[in-house]
Amino acid sequence: PSSRSARLLDDLNPAQRRAVEHAGSPMLVVAGAGSGKTRVLTRRIAHLLSERGAHPGEIMAITFTNKAAAEMKERVADLVGPRARSMWVSTFHSMCVRVMRREAKVLGMSSNFSIYDSDDTRRLITLVARDLDLDPKRYPARTLAIHISNLKNELVDAATAKDRATNDLERRVAEVYESYQRRLTESNSLDFDDLIMRTVELLQDHPDVAEHYHRRFKHVLVDEYQDTNHAQYTLVRELVGTGSDGVPPAELCVVGDADQSIYAFRGATIRNIVEFERDYPQATTILLEQNYRSTQTILTAANAVISRNPDRRDKRLWSDLGDGEKIVGYVADNEHDEAQFVANEIDRLVDSGEANNGEIAVFYRTNNQSRVFEEIFIRLGLPYKVVGGVRFYERREVRDALAYLRALSNPDDTVSLRRILNVPKRGIGDRAEACVSTYAERERIGFAQALRDAVVGRVPMLNPRSRNAIAGFVELMDELGVMVERGDDVADILEAVLERTAYRAELEASDDPQDHTRVENLNELVTVAREFTDLGTAVPVPDEDEGLPAEGSLGAFLERVSLVADADSVPDAESDGVVTLMTLHTAKGLEYPVVFCTGWEDGVFPHMRALGDPAELSEERRLAYVGITRAQQRLYLSRALVRSAWGQPSANPASRFLDEIPAELVDWRRVEPRRSAPSAPTSWGHSSSSPRPAPVNNQWKDTPAIKLDVGDRVTHDKYGLGRVVAVDGSGPRATATIDFGGSGTVRLMLIGGVPLVKL
Ligand code: ATP
Ligand code: MG
Repeated sequence: PSSRSARLLDDLNPAQRRAVEHAGSPMLVVAGAGSGKTRVLTRRIAHLLSERGAHPGEIMAITFTNKAAAEMKERVADLVGPRARSMWVSTFHSMCVRVMRREAKVLGMSSNFSIYDSDDTRRLITLVARDLDLDPKRYPARTLAIHISNLKNELVDAATAKDRATNDLERRVAEVYESYQRRLTESNSLDFDDLIMRTVELLQDHPDVAEHYHRRFKHVLVDEYQDTNHAQYTLVRELVGTGSDGVPPAELCVVGDADQSIYAFRGATIRNIVEFERDYPQATTILLEQNYRSTQTILTAANAVISRNPDRRDKRLWSDLGDGEKIVGYVADNEHDEAQFVANEIDRLVDSGEANNGEIAVFYRTNNQSRVFEEIFIRLGLPYKVVGGVRFYERREVRDALAYLRALSNPDDTVSLRRILNVPKRGIGDRAEACVSTYAERERIGFAQALRDAVVGRVPMLNPRSRNAIAGFVELMDELGVMVERGDDVADILEAVLERTAYRAELEASDDPQDHTRVENLNELVTVAREFTDLGTAVPVPDEDEGLPAEGSLGAFLERVSLVADADSVPDAESDGVVTLMTLHTAKGLEYPVVFCTGWEDGVFPHMRALGDPAELSEERRLAYVGITRAQQRLYLSRALVRSAWGQPSANPASRFLDEIPAELVDWRRVEPRRSAPSAPTSWGHSSSSPRPAPVNNQWKDTPAIKLDVGDRVTHDKYGLGRVVAVDGSGPRATATIDFGGSGTVRLMLIGGVPLVKL
C-alpha cells in the first residue's frame, strides 16, 4: 500500500481496517458506542477517494446532523485535500431538498418551494381541520399532525390511509391528510416528512430520474443507521438501486448500534439494522468491539444498564484505557442543589486544571431542565451554552420576518402569507381573512391570487376598509418582490421588510422590555443574513450541475434556515471553550472528557410516560446508555429528592437505572439523608448518612413503608395536612399524589423516611 494508504489505515484496528477496505457487497458495521463507527465511515470515504479512484461527486454520505456532516467533510478534506468538499455529505433532509429542488419540475412543483416545519404544519392542519368542521378538542391539530407524520414515515399516502382506516380517528386523520396534502401542493410547499417521502416517490415513479442518481452515486454511506425510519430505509434502497436499470448497485456502507436507537417517536426502527442481512442478501457484517472513548469503569456501567433491555444482542465492548476515575454520584435536596453541585464541581475541575470548560457537558432528559443550570451558571459567571430549547428560529418575531421572506420567495406559500397578512396590524381582521380564504377555497385558487382578486372587488362580503388594507398589503409585497427579482442581498431585502412594514419601528416604540429583546433578535437575524451573503459570494460554487438556489440567494438562505437543527449549534470545545448543556437526545454521537448526567429520577429519567410501558422503558434505557457512553474520563450521575415540575414540587424516587449500575463503580459524594428507620444502603445513594455501617435491610424493597389509599388523610412535616388523590406503582416505587391544599398537590414516594403520617 502507498504511504498515504498506510496513513489512512495506520491507527485503525483490524476490524475497522476491514470495514474501510471492504469493496463490493453491502456492508453493515454494528458496534457499541465509541468503537469508531463514525471514524470508519470518514476513513472509508478518504480511502475511496485516495486509494480506489473514486471521484468526490460519486459519494453520498448521510449523517444525523448538519454539523456532523460539515465535520465529516472537513475531516475527509484534512485527509485527502480540498476536492473532498464537493461530495454530498448531508442529513437525509438536506439531501432530499437538494434532489427535490433539482427535480421539482418532474413532480409538477416549482423549485422555489417552501419547507414547512412543525409549527407551519400545525398552522395549516388547523386551517384544514377548521374547514372540515372538526372539533379541535377531540381532534387537536397536534394529534392530527403526529398521525399524519407517522403515516408519511411509513410511506402511506392519503388515499391508502383512507382505505386502511378502520375507526373514526383513522378516518378523520385520512380526511385531514388528504386536504392537508392538497393545500401543501397549492402552497408549493413540502413538510419535513414530505422531503423524504416525495423523494422516494420520485425515485420509484421516475426510472429515468432514478437512473441518473444511480449513475452518479457509486457509494452510499449512512451513519447512525439505527435511527432511520421506514421512509429513510426505503430511500437508501432506492438510491443504491438493484442494477435492473443496467447500472450496478452503489456500494452501501451503513454503521449503527441498535442500543442507541432513541428516535422511535419519529418512527425509527432497529428493524433496519436487525434485518440488514435479509434486506441485502449479499451483505457483509463487521463487528467492532474495542471502545476508544471511555474508561473501563464508564463502559462497565453502560454495559450493565443496557444489558437489562430484553431482546437485544449482547455485545462485548471493552476498553484498554484503564479503569480511570470512579463515577461520582450525588443526591441533591432539590434541583437547585443539584445545579449548585454541578457548578461547584465544574469550578473545582477547572481550577485544578483537570478540565477546561469546553471539555465539559451537562445532560438532562428534557429541555425545561436547563433553566436551573442557567440561573446558577449565570450567577457564578460560568461560561456555558444551551443547545436547543426555545430556538432562535422559533421566536415569534424571527418567524414573522422569515414568513415575509418566504412569501416573497414563494408567493404560493399560504401559511407564510396568512401569518403576515395582518402582522404588524394593518386593518385586515380575521373576518376579512376568512372571506378571502373561503373565496380561495371555492374558486380553487391560491391565497395570493385571492388577495389580488379581493383588491379588484371580486371577493364577496368584504368591506371597503379591508379591501383597501389588502390593496396596501399587495402593493407592499409587490414592491419588495422587485428586490427579490433583482437578486438583491438577503440582508437588504430583510432590512426593507422591517422598514417598510414598520415592524421594527413598532417594537422600538413599545415600552415592553420584551419588545426590545425582539428588536435585538431581528437585528441578529439581519446579521445572520449579512454573513450568509458575504459567505455566499466568497465561496466558489462547488457543483455546477445542481440546479440549486444560487449561493447567497434568498432561496439558499431560507433553505439553510429551514434545516437548522438543535444539534447544529453544539459549541466546539477548542474554539468556544464553554460548558455545553443539552438533552440526552442531542448528545448522540458526541463525546466529552467530563459528563454530568443529571435528573436520574423515576418520572424524570426514565420519563413519566415510560413508567408503565416496557417498550418506552427500553427506549429510555437506550437513552441512558447513550448518555453514559458520551463520557471519556469522568462521569457524574445526580438526582434530586424533590424537583419542581409544572410549578409543583414532586418527590421522586431514584431512577431505576441507577439501581442497575454496579455499586462498586460509584463513589456517592452525598446520599439521601436518613430521616427515620428503616433505612437501607443500596447502590443508588439511598444509604444512611450515619457514619456507622448501616444495617442491611432490604425489606422496604418489596413493600411500601406507608400504605395509603385514595381518600386517606395524611399529615406531612413540611406540607401539613392533606388528602390522597391518587396512588401509583407498588413496592419501593409506590407513590401517592396528595393534595395539601394551600401547599399544593405533591407526588411523594412511600418508602421509609418520608415524613408522612396517615391520620
Ligand atoms: P457512537 O456510537 O457514540 O457514535 P462511534 O462508534 O461512532 O461512537 P467514534 O466517535 O468514531 O465512535 O470514535 C470514538 C472515539 O474513539 C473517537 O474519539 C475516535 O477518534 C476514537 N477512535 C476510534 N477508533 C480508534 C482507533 N482505532 N484508535 C484510536 N482512537 C480511535
Ligand atoms: Mg458515531
